[in-house]
Amino acid sequence: TRAVQEFDKVVDSVCPFCGVGCQTSVAVKDNRIVQVDGRNGPANENRLCVKGRFGFDYVHSPDRLTKPLIRRDDAPKAGDIDLRDVDPLTVFREASWEEALERASSGIKTILDRDGGAALAGFGSAKGSNEEAYLFQKLIREGFGTNNVDHCTRLCHASSVSALLEGVGSGAVSAPFTDAMKADCIIVIGARPATNHPVAATYFKQAVKQGKQLIIMDPRRQNLMRHATHALQFKPGSDVAMLNALLNVIVTEKLYDEQYIQANVSGFEALKEKVKDFTPEAMAEVCGVDAETLRTVARVYATSERSIIFWGMGVSQHTHGTDNSRCLIALALTTGHVGREGTGLHPLRGQNNVQGASDAGLIPMFFPDYKSVENVDIRSNYEDLWGRSLDPVKGLTVVEIVDAIHDDVIKGMYIMGENPAMSDPDQLHARAALAKLEHLVVQDIFLTETAWHADVVFPASAHAEKLGTYTNTNRQVQIGRPALDLPGEARQDWELIVDLAKGIGLDWAYRDISEVYDEMAAVMPSLRNIPWERIEREESVTYPADAPDKPGNEVIFREGFPTADGRGKIVPADLLPPDEVPDEQYPMVLTTGRLLEHWHTGAMTRRSGVLDEIEPQGIAVMNPYEIERQGLAAGQMVSVETRRGVVEAVLRADREVADGMIFMPFCFNESPANRLTNPQLDPYGKIPEFKYCAARIESMEQA
Ligand code: SF4
Repeated sequence: TRAVQEFDKVVDSVCPFCGVGCQTSVAVKDNRIVQVDGRNGPANENRLCVKGRFGFDYVHSPDRLTKPLIRRDDAPKAGDIDLRDVDPLTVFREASWEEALERASSGIKTILDRDGGAALAGFGSAKGSNEEAYLFQKLIREGFGTNNVDHCTRLCHASSVSALLEGVGSGAVSAPFTDAMKADCIIVIGARPATNHPVAATYFKQAVKQGKQLIIMDPRRQNLMRHATHALQFKPGSDVAMLNALLNVIVTEKLYDEQYIQANVSGFEALKEKVKDFTPEAMAEVCGVDAETLRTVARVYATSERSIIFWGMGVSQHTHGTDNSRCLIALALTTGHVGREGTGLHPLRGQNNVQGASDAGLIPMFFPDYKSVENVDIRSNYEDLWGRSLDPVKGLTVVEIVDAIHDDVIKGMYIMGENPAMSDPDQLHARAALAKLEHLVVQDIFLTETAWHADVVFPASAHAEKLGTYTNTNRQVQIGRPALDLPGEARQDWELIVDLAKGIGLDWAYRDISEVYDEMAAVMPSLRNIPWERIEREESVTYPADAPDKPGNEVIFREGFPTADGRGKIVPADLLPPDEVPDEQYPMVLTTGRLLEHWHTGAMTRRSGVLDEIEPQGIAVMNPYEIERQGLAAGQMVSVETRRGVVEAVLRADREVADGMIFMPFCFNESPANRLTNPQLDPYGKIPEFKYCAARIESMEQA
């Protein structure tokens, strides 16, 4: 914290939004943020995007929760109420902390004593700190007695992580995105960094200016394509066809690195066999990219000295998302483009701490650091540490938990900082599940669409009000510092988790957040040599670090892989269709995603004056030719319908969207795109198919 004349203070922190993890200086006057600037952090070198620089005012929104709330006895469960028309105090009454905590914990205990831990579940948050994530999963495992704990990683990169764990033994990136500057060839597939990771995109543009090859692959055009040396607008859902065609060229033209494969890779022979029929000529029609371009791109990637691959939700949010990532891993392993500077595999992580929350064990199949809950030795270590016997089977994932509520298996939930009423697929089904819960405790800074369903609401702390560590997409563990006092009676998230733990009988006695970090770091090999004091002192430390006084390893897999045999494993993928393809009734493809100005479900950015002014209303986007072909007009109200529901939105024309496609952002409650999306899951990562379902669009205006 520095004192600066015109401000009361300037606090060094990190951005609360995306996984880039830009370091910030937060200027405060009269307990209000008045300015945010970029600092010289390793991921941003003084840069910030529009969200980080101007999106901070949500913390001062009049919508902030400042008192605990308890649902009125006569209030109907929220279901699908239109939140804009309801006064919260007709549904909830204000309560003391004592009463709210008692109500919350007794509801959990009643279910626990009657039905056991399998009837409970928790959603933590990728927006919270590592310490909060660790405490949250510990509460669910130790206190609730179940592994039914998950968070939004299930909705973003779960399939990437399952493929990476299988292929290279680690779910994190192998090199930071700044290594694009050291690469000769950069592939960006199924990601829109200029929208979703804007500061990372600046490095990609800079790399092109230095003469690097930039290959963008995306079913929607994007503005980064203007900087690309090769732009492949492939057909949605055809990732495996396109990527196997590249692998076919690499195999048939012998562009692979034989020495690297012999020393480090298994599964190459099976891959050769699998991709034999995926010739560029055969796949051109399937993926919509001509054979010559496929050959050229394969050659550029394979023969460059250093090539690196970045990917996003366009790859992962499919029922074949794991297969898509397997193909990317196969590209890197066959060519030896991993384990050196300027090479590697980098799934661009979405939320500010989705990497850290996953590392800290906020997932149903793993303790911290991806240690299986089904491994007897690992589980018994945690049983010794926590002094309780623990659930021996892996828990349910986000969408499975929703289904288990409908099946009367799960009856109570604790949700911290997550908004499944907006983020889950088939939203009416998800909201009906929340409404059906016997007992729901929600902890948040706003009365989100999810909190409306709660029995007890805890007013919590915003990012700018708390101390904690956050791990960005580059594996850099960074410190966020409090700049503001908490509003009203709102309390720190970690203290609330501890109070709930005490309320259900756990003997937890943490005095401050650094003690939580110390306990977490003691069980996580990835944080060895990174004590709390080091992060405080250095601001950002990359894990893993070999010694307390040595910088962390930005590039991993230099000498093999952390797999059972030390080798990277290629798992060949087959071409599978999306779960639901267009037909006569629903002839279009609906795809969903984010906007530059709005972050995820919009809980924060829609309460930011500047950002909501720029993008104030729900939209459905099609290209102008498609709009004309369908007899519609940009600017008019349309209804978009799928087998799950119907949503109204303003029609926008944008040449980036391919023929036959509709794009909708999922951040607008008044036009909730996830009312339409398909909940079918990838069998490995259990991620829903947000990027593809059959839809139709109609005018809402009289002819
Ligand atoms: Fe924040 Fe991401 Fe923008 Fe950086 S790029 S300022 S981390 S939203």
